[in-house]
Amino acid sequence: MNSKKIIIAIDGHSSCGKSTFAKAIAAKLGYIFIDTGAMYRAVTLYALENGAICSGMVDEESVVQMLSDINIDFRFNPQRGASDIYVNGDLVEGKIRTIEVSNCVSAVSSIAEVRSKLVAMQQHMGIKRGVVMDGRDIGTVVFPDAELKIYMTADPMVRAERRFKELTAKGDKVTIEEIYENVVSRDKADMSRAISPLRKADDAIVLDNSHMSVEEQMAWFMERYEEALMK
Ligand code: C5P
Repeated sequence: MNSKKIIIAIDGHSSCGKSTFAKAIAAKLGYIFIDTGAMYRAVTLYALENGAICSGMVDEESVVQMLSDINIDFRFNPQRGASDIYVNGDLVEGKIRTIEVSNCVSAVSSIAEVRSKLVAMQQHMGIKRGVVMDGRDIGTVVFPDAELKIYMTADPMVRAERRFKELTAKGDKVTIEEIYENVVSRDKADMSRAISPLRKADDAIVLDNSHMSVEEQMAWFMERYEEALMK
């Protein structure tokens, strides 16, 4: 295999399997996988647990004040074949994907100070290249010079059904309606926010995986990857 290391940026809508796809790519290529959504979720969880979010209302000033107390790091977990996220040394991987966090994360991620702290961390993590990073602004803001940019999407009901299966398998009590509502409203919030809104980078390739298996997506990806290496 070609030894050139590149940056692979995967952006797109909520719950369309970006992280699963990015993780599989990283494992295949021996790259580092970074789930940037987990970082915004970790800040949201901290804000929830420390009183900066009350009845779904985010107190932006308190979140900004808390930022210097939040230390995020990733540690590789060989059992999962991916990195777990820690906040101030505590493992929070299992707590960041609840519907409560999902319902508040878009508001937290629209705060300028939150974004600048996390974007700087992400840029540092990719300094040596050889990373697959998934999020909303990777190809547009974090790494506008990424060699391969993919913009993922899927039908909103297909996405809600996938997330519903995932959460109910873990024992979470959720309804498909509330998940659908969350998926659609997060897309809207992420695409309309003032700072770094979700949008397709001009040079990103669209992948609609509504009716594709993971294997089909991987085959599609490998062709794009080979092309990117030639450039
Ligand atoms: O990817 P995931 O759905 O876990 O991301 C959770 C939320 O974090 C998104 O809905 C978005 O508000 C925010 N996010 C972001 N920029 C990123 C990654 C995630 O604003 N690069």
